[in-house]
Amino acid sequence: MKKIIIAIDGYSACGKSTTAKQVAAVLGYRYIDSGAMYRAVTLYFLDHHVALTNPKEVEKALVQVQLTFHVNSHGVTEMFLNGVNVEKKIRKMRISENVSPVSALKEVRVAMVDQQRKLGKDKGIVMDGRDIGTVVFPDAELKLFLTADMQVRAARRQQELLEKDNLVDLDTVIANITERDRIDSTRKESPLVKATDAVEIDTTHITIDEQVDEVLRQAVSKMMRKKK
Ligand code: C5P
Repeated sequence: MKKIIIAIDGYSACGKSTTAKQVAAVLGYRYIDSGAMYRAVTLYFLDHHVALTNPKEVEKALVQVQLTFHVNSHGVTEMFLNGVNVEKKIRKMRISENVSPVSALKEVRVAMVDQQRKLGKDKGIVMDGRDIGTVVFPDAELKLFLTADMQVRAARRQQELLEKDNLVDLDTVIANITERDRIDSTRKESPLVKATDAVEIDTTHITIDEQVDEVLRQAVSKMMRKKK
């Protein structure tokens, strides 16, 4: 079967990464968490006190940022910033609270989209984010847009954080998700919108297994069609 590109977009904490990871594993595709890239840039900018209001400074800093993905011994893809594993650091609230203003910068988006397109040039990739089906891969064979109720999203994200030893109260999680959604969908540069040809999946009342099955069903149908 021909390889395709699967683009998964949606609001924060709708289960995009969990679904994308499992779909990629079943298909033997590469999984790319584009949000991890924006998070790693944010970590670098915070640690190096980059002034977001100064485009020249932002561009200079971006030249110093080298992002790579490595698959660990458990088959889990981890984000490396300048050769250092930052997977744990980028999941902290410090990054979640600062990532959206960084992601809204044009210079940052141009640099990330360029790298993301290179990662997808051979297809056989599942990428999740906010602008994958609209900007990064507008010709992706399969585009999904995930949604879910806020309470469910927040509870799932709180649980995820807990599993990574980050104890955060539910109100803080809700405030963060709400604020990121607001900035991500109202920014000037590639705002979060559903692509017109994306299939919407509401994950509020379905399990991860059901989500994964649904995406796989759609993927196989696209792959079969592409073969002809
Ligand atoms: O997916 P995740 O929640 O880790 O993404 C973190 C942040 O990165 C988002 O809130 C958004 O600001 C930014 N992002 C983006 N475009 C993408 C992926 C993530 O702007 N394709």
